[in-house]
Amino acid sequence: MGLRDPLRALLRSDELATHQVPIEGSPEQALADLRRESAERYRQLADAMPQIVWTADAAGTATYYNRRWFEYTGMAEDEADGQAWVRVTHPDDLAQARARRERTLADGGIFETEYRFLGADGTYRWHLGRAVPIRTAGGEIDFWIGTATDIDDRKRIEEAQQFLLDVGAELSLSLDWQAGLRAVARLAVPRIADCCAVYLEDDRGAVSLFTVEPPGRDPPKLAGPRGVAEVIRSNQPVLAAGADGDSHSALCVPLTARGQAIGAITLLMEGSGRRLRDLDLQTAEEIALRVAVAAENARLYEELERRARAARVLETIADGVVLLDEREQVLLWNNAAEAITGIRAGDVVGRPAHAVLPGYAGNVAAAAADGRPQTVPVEIAGRELWLSFSAVQFGDGTVYAFRDLTEERGIEQMRSDFVATVSHELRTPLAAIYGAAITLRRNDLELDTEMRNRLLDIVSKESSRLAEIVNDVLLASHLDSGRLRLNIQTVDAVEATTVVVDAAQSRLPEGVSLSVDAPARNVPVAADSQQLRQVLSNLIDNAVKYSPDGGPVTVTVALQERTVRWLVSDRGLGIPASERLRVFEKFFRLDPNMTRGIGGTGLGLYICAELVHRLDGRIWVESNGDKGSTFVVELPAS
Ligand code: ADP
Repeated sequence: MGLRDPLRALLRSDELATHQVPIEGSPEQALADLRRESAERYRQLADAMPQIVWTADAAGTATYYNRRWFEYTGMAEDEADGQAWVRVTHPDDLAQARARRERTLADGGIFETEYRFLGADGTYRWHLGRAVPIRTAGGEIDFWIGTATDIDDRKRIEEAQQFLLDVGAELSLSLDWQAGLRAVARLAVPRIADCCAVYLEDDRGAVSLFTVEPPGRDPPKLAGPRGVAEVIRSNQPVLAAGADGDSHSALCVPLTARGQAIGAITLLMEGSGRRLRDLDLQTAEEIALRVAVAAENARLYEELERRARAARVLETIADGVVLLDEREQVLLWNNAAEAITGIRAGDVVGRPAHAVLPGYAGNVAAAAADGRPQTVPVEIAGRELWLSFSAVQFGDGTVYAFRDLTEERGIEQMRSDFVATVSHELRTPLAAIYGAAITLRRNDLELDTEMRNRLLDIVSKESSRLAEIVNDVLLASHLDSGRLRLNIQTVDAVEATTVVVDAAQSRLPEGVSLSVDAPARNVPVAADSQQLRQVLSNLIDNAVKYSPDGGPVTVTVALQERTVRWLVSDRGLGIPASERLRVFEKFFRLDPNMTRGIGGTGLGLYICAELVHRLDGRIWVESNGDKGSTFVVELPAS
């Protein structure tokens, strides 16, 4: 402390020898004069100090206060007695200051404490009080010199900083900024104000009290509702410090969110002997800023959450969802859209819809314009998809939701194919049987034996054809429903082939020959013998059937490394390369209108493929050189 050393230099008697004061008369007299003179100088010096300076006797009773003391406290000279300090010390700080004083008097150490002194203006200010004992040459405490330095600004800044830290913590605790705002008001009282009121403005511009601390208190009058509305409107803070002697002071700062005032915070001091100052205005503005940030964060978070929820919904629903902006550029393409179309979001987002969805302009947009869900064909990467679109238009674009109805459509198509094919296929033999039966029943016609036999032959052949069709339909339906049980055993491939070929030989049409090329020994294969015969019989029947101009049909059996392989070759109509996969589809026929007069259900090859796959084998068709086809079947050797 700067004060102590010069004072000590002035007052300590052992240093008088070095002092440049002329000594007159007796040494005692001179010393007394010097003391008086020194005391006078000390007083002058002390009065010039910006701090409060006092002295006290060895027992601690005040003997002197400097000018600053009287200025600050507003006391008259005669009031400054030994207890004067007690009267100005804040009641809350008194006990602590007294205890410290007792301790210092007892141990003769240095006194140091922080307490609030009541000023002449009726407000308390924080002071740092310090006192040191001045000792005689013998070491006894002679008297005390004390100072009290105004540390109120520093103290208030520290408090404000701590308060802002707490406010920050409170606001970051939850995303509910309004709850944060209530907490801020609670924290503010009594730390930085005696009363705190928060006002919020609603959407219609009406300002109402949001919270007040202490609870239930009337909101502060100094910047009452009208004043608050003005602060919000002008977005300008107001500090009403109150005149000297008026213990009220208030301030009001606007609360803003995204540059827009949404409310205001009002702080009020009354009765606690504190006064709101510029510093408090800054603190309040800082709070408002933090509340604004918290409110903005909460809003952003809510927005993000809302979007994330919407995005999660979009990504989990099974319907494709596409969002187009007003220029028909794709903004969003969800998971289901990717899965249904096979087009990745990265390849479409940001691109025009017509470039991404072929047929968009013609089909989809037209369907959307209609307002009702529309099922339209869309060709993507060579695949025809039947997509059912619904569209909702909004301000900046259109949302399409679509689902894949290709399969449903396929099933629907198949059902009508089935009805058409089967009923047609049934009608032909039925008509033949009916015709033959009617003829046989006629009494007016003399039928010779040969004619009767031919008619009966028709009835029997067409009946077995009917039975075959019904069998095919039943077998296909069993395969579809998974009800077909296979009984896989070791079967001799050569024997199975011979049985089928012999049966086919018996019904070969004219011009077609059938031969087998098989090893002379057993060729064991793992198969269900009945279903194996079904496969071979279908292939041989087809080879014969689709050789309408006649020709050789050859069946080859060969043991491969791990498989047994059959080749069924004909030199008939052949199958174009592009259709070699499709012939195995259910109901698929190359010539559905029977321009060549060859009937069929389109089930035979489907059944073959299903059975072969269930036997862990493979089936495919190749061209047989320049003419006809070769069907290849491979099954695991046993
Ligand atoms: P279908 O009852 O029509 O014969 P399949 O499923 O057995 O039904 O055959 C499907 C289609 O494949 C046939 O309609 C025919 O167009 C074609 N096909 C099958 N086998 C042959 C073959 N050996 N030669 C030419 N075309 C064939």
